[in-house]
Amino acid sequence: MRLPITGDQIKDLAAQLDPSTKLFTRADGQEYEKLIARWADNAIRQAGVVAVPVTYEEVSKLVKFASDNKIDIAVRCGGHSTGGCSSSEGGLVIDLSGMRNVTVDKDSKLIIAQGGALWADVDNAAIEKGLATVGGTVNHTGIGGLTLGGGLGWLTGLYGTVVDNLVAAKVVIADGSLLNASEKENADLFWAIRGAGHNFGVAVEFTIKGHDQTNEVYAGGYVFTPDKLIAIIDALNAKMKNPDPKASAIVVFASPPTMPGPVIVTNLFYNGDQAAAEKCFDFLLKLEPVANMAKMMPYNLVNGLLNPMAAHGGRKSLKALTLSHDVDAAFVQELFEEYARKMKENPDLAKTFMGIEFYDTTKLNSVPIESMAFANRGLYRAGIVGLEWSDPEKDMENRSWGRGFQTKCRQHVIDQNQYSEETTKTALEYANYIEPGDLIDKKPFGVNQQRLEMLKHKFDPDCLFNKTSPLVPLKN
Ligand SMILES: Cc1cc2nc3c(=O)[nH]c(=O)nc-3n(C[C@H](O)[C@H](O)[C@H](O)COP(=O)(O)OP(=O)(O)OC[C@H]3O[C@@H](n4cnc5c(N)ncnc54)[C@H](O)[C@@H]3O)c2cc1C
Repeated sequence: MRLPITGDQIKDLAAQLDPSTKLFTRADGQEYEKLIARWADNAIRQAGVVAVPVTYEEVSKLVKFASDNKIDIAVRCGGHSTGGCSSSEGGLVIDLSGMRNVTVDKDSKLIIAQGGALWADVDNAAIEKGLATVGGTVNHTGIGGLTLGGGLGWLTGLYGTVVDNLVAAKVVIADGSLLNASEKENADLFWAIRGAGHNFGVAVEFTIKGHDQTNEVYAGGYVFTPDKLIAIIDALNAKMKNPDPKASAIVVFASPPTMPGPVIVTNLFYNGDQAAAEKCFDFLLKLEPVANMAKMMPYNLVNGLLNPMAAHGGRKSLKALTLSHDVDAAFVQELFEEYARKMKENPDLAKTFMGIEFYDTTKLNSVPIESMAFANRGLYRAGIVGLEWSDPEKDMENRSWGRGFQTKCRQHVIDQNQYSEETTKTALEYANYIEPGDLIDKKPFGVNQQRLEMLKHKFDPDCLFNKTSPLVPLKN
């Protein structure tokens, strides 16, 4: 069991640290409150102390101190975990907001980003050098949490996951050592952090492949009335039979306050010019959207488009969904009806959305599933329910409604694909959308689960890093 940090331990720790590392406790008032704030209000915990280091050596000292003293530890990058995985009640939070530097080398096309950077930092620095990489579709998410769990984004069709583009990382492991991880150095650690990284240490630096991105891209939403839903899904399925890696779509159910009821938004991305994009998405244009907000823009602005529907604050929960690759439109209609019924019944949930991601999975599935920890490769589509509400009394009830969606989707995939938990290699739900306590959390790394448990024993036998999809160490 991990312990809270005591007042004396905070003094001891402060004496060991360089003055550049600032420590904040409740006595620091607003500054402390700002540091423990999270994207979701329900993820806030009263940390014993928040440390804001600016060097890798200082991160090592913090980790070693927590390890030696069995103190509960949390690592915070973007702070988007809705399950409180970057927060600690009474323990030590390592807040990486002082480590957001990103450098980009145009010749080698490598992006070197510190472990506290947000996706906006990466996208902006890369585009200045005519480059882009796979990144989160909401650009205030942290590169730390998103990368360590795999990373899906608008460029997934072209380049796979974020971890498919990860070349190296620097990681502080549980005993405080700072290790280089790559195919050449500590290859087993490198294998583990590409998908299950939250379990293995503090990633203080990532080296990521950039790709040429000198053209502007087409992006934005088409808004439809709900009667078009089945036609939209059928048409997207047909399109995905012969997919274009430059084109992606996220179909969202949302309830904008300006509309009389829920609507369907197809958020679109095309890495090419407007004429090519509109030709690619003509099957949607023919369905006569009531609004068309898509336009040409520099790539670094695309990941800001969904920010307004993902603002900070409020009580929130993410629920990972899995759907068949060839999405069953009638089933999605059922999900929509359930969503619309719930929004009507409980207006406090009005900011809740549900999304289904359509990108070309060819590149993603060309990477062997056992080549790294990330195990969400297969003929499935990732989906998500993003619940938001204000009433703390409804936390359990709302989460359990979201879990109901998860279970329903999983069962449908099992029935449709004759999927068997024993024989399949893939994990069904995307680990980065799973929250602690979700029933499906049992085997989030599919065929890679056992090797990860053995590596956990090697790198973190006392489970210092234990918050996101925790692994139980297994002796060889
Ligand atoms: C609005 C929104 C949009 C999203 N969009 C996408 C998307 O487009 N694609 C996608 O793949 N996922 C997406 N996600 C899921 C996202 O990948 C996870 O929520 C992720 O954990 C967020 O990372 P963070 O750094 O912002 O969060 P945090 O809460 O700071 O961290 C989450 C977990 O990662 C750990 N962690 C963070 N940084 C480090 C580090 N440097 N070293 C070690 N551990 C670390 C934390 O300790 C915690 O366990 C989205 C989530 C939200 C809320």
